[in-house]
Amino acid sequence: MTDPEVLRSYGYSENSYHGSAPHAVVVKPESTEDVVKIIGVARKYRFPVTPYSGATSLEGHFAGYSTGSICLDMSGMDKILKINVEDADLVCQSGARWEDINETLKEQGIPLFFPLDPGPGAVRSIALWQIFLTDPSAHPQTIGGMVGTGCSGTNAVRYGTARSEWFLNLTVVLPNGKVIKTKRRARKSSTGFDTTKLFIGAEGTLGIVTEATLRLAPVIPSKVAMAQFPDVNHAVSAVQEVLTSPYGSHIQCVELLDDHMMAAINAGGMVSEPLPLKDSLFFKIQGAQDTVERAAETIKNIVARHGSSQFRFAATDEDAEDLWQNRKYALMSTLSASPGARCWTTDVWYVVHASACSITHLVICSVPVSKLPQLVYETKQDMAECGLKSTIVGHVGDGNFHAFMLFRNDEEFEVVKGAVHRLVHRALALDGTCTGEHGVGLGKKEYLIEELGQGTIELMLAVKKAVDPDNIMNPGKLYPDLPGARNP
Ligand SMILES: Cc1cc2nc3c(=O)[nH]c(=O)nc-3n(C[C@H](O)[C@H](O)[C@H](O)COP(=O)(O)OP(=O)(O)OC[C@H]3O[C@@H](n4cnc5c(N)ncnc54)[C@H](O)[C@@H]3O)c2cc1C
Repeated sequence: MTDPEVLRSYGYSENSYHGSAPHAVVVKPESTEDVVKIIGVARKYRFPVTPYSGATSLEGHFAGYSTGSICLDMSGMDKILKINVEDADLVCQSGARWEDINETLKEQGIPLFFPLDPGPGAVRSIALWQIFLTDPSAHPQTIGGMVGTGCSGTNAVRYGTARSEWFLNLTVVLPNGKVIKTKRRARKSSTGFDTTKLFIGAEGTLGIVTEATLRLAPVIPSKVAMAQFPDVNHAVSAVQEVLTSPYGSHIQCVELLDDHMMAAINAGGMVSEPLPLKDSLFFKIQGAQDTVERAAETIKNIVARHGSSQFRFAATDEDAEDLWQNRKYALMSTLSASPGARCWTTDVWYVVHASACSITHLVICSVPVSKLPQLVYETKQDMAECGLKSTIVGHVGDGNFHAFMLFRNDEEFEVVKGAVHRLVHRALALDGTCTGEHGVGLGKKEYLIEELGQGTIELMLAVKKAVDPDNIMNPGKLYPDLPGARNP
């Protein structure tokens, strides 16, 4: 495809704020062999190639390259190739969508699921969110994109991230045109270092994933509980005690929504009954009914010790589903309260542009869990001192939270920018990271040397250079510009 409108739309994202050069051409392969042919042409003419799948990444990951680039749209390669129920694994093409995979398993009565869940219902624009509301099958996040960004989500407390062993094997087309499989289908293997991991979080800069073998987990019934606290600090400190309690291993998710976010959800009009306007934790608890009930009782006692004034346990499946929906669609239900709103992201922020010209930055930082109360507390204080309106939502069970900051004009935007930089540096000072789950793309390159150190960056660059000496794979993304070094 070379239509200028198509090229523009493939290089652009409402979620990104990092500039958006159009691609020179969009190509939609149907097989690994097609990808090999495309890479052959790119290699011959040293033409940049940007893999593109669900296009929901937030840091300018799939923007076009300034001198022109081939956008490789992998979303058509979306087939499930084989389900091995007895081995609890599944082979699919990389364009397969994780929510579709789980839906297929459910429809076929297979009690297994793929547990990585990067933002259920994540869409790349408000227009698509409106479609998603009526057609949940419109969710676009794909296995290839999830490998690319090293994603995770609310389930990370129990199941870890993309860097855990959920990807058993990847089929990859390398920049030299060779097709490799990183492993076989065995659950474990000691054959040297882990080449599967080389591609997790590589953001399409080392090769193109065309197929994947996914490890599946048994579906375990779960229930939901919600607790309210006097402040975020009390809420976050309760999480640690819950996770280290004897029932900690039954906690699938722990999510924090601050009082402002609860208000935004109420205003979004998507809740059946108004939520209490207090800093709140949402727990998903796994296990048989009696275990879950005992776990809920333990959580109730722990949160009470941390000042919780209200505790609600949703004991039926319907009630649990209802309660969890509030967390699941927190961001988008907030947006739906602002007709005409649109979204984009900056380097460390997710940005919401509301009709009244108020804008929200989403900052995503992650620290060791024990440091989270300090990070959240200081960040809330900082935002209040700057006079910023903000909401907080986070996967606090694994030390990760998102802050949304509102602004209305250029002046306030500068205030937000300052607050965001302070937040990132605060997270780094607490031994944390500038990106808990969304990846680096164009936006977070500037923080990487400070976070990882020059030696680690040099190692990353050495790998990149060895695998892709002509720098044709998604150039400009991920690797920071190292002083004194010639970057690929
Ligand atoms: C509302 C919203 C909520 C979100 N919540 C979360 C969250 O909770 N957790 C989280 O982790 N993320 C979240 N995200 C970010 C995003 O959805 C994830 O990063 C997701 O994994 C991206 O998948 P995708 O298919 O859209 O990838 P894309 O955006 O298409 O691509 C992502 C990266 O992978 C590369 N890539 C794509 N396909 C391939 C391939 N086949 N081979 C090699 N490289 C490839 C691309 O070049 C790019 O660098 C959210 C996004 C939105 C819009």
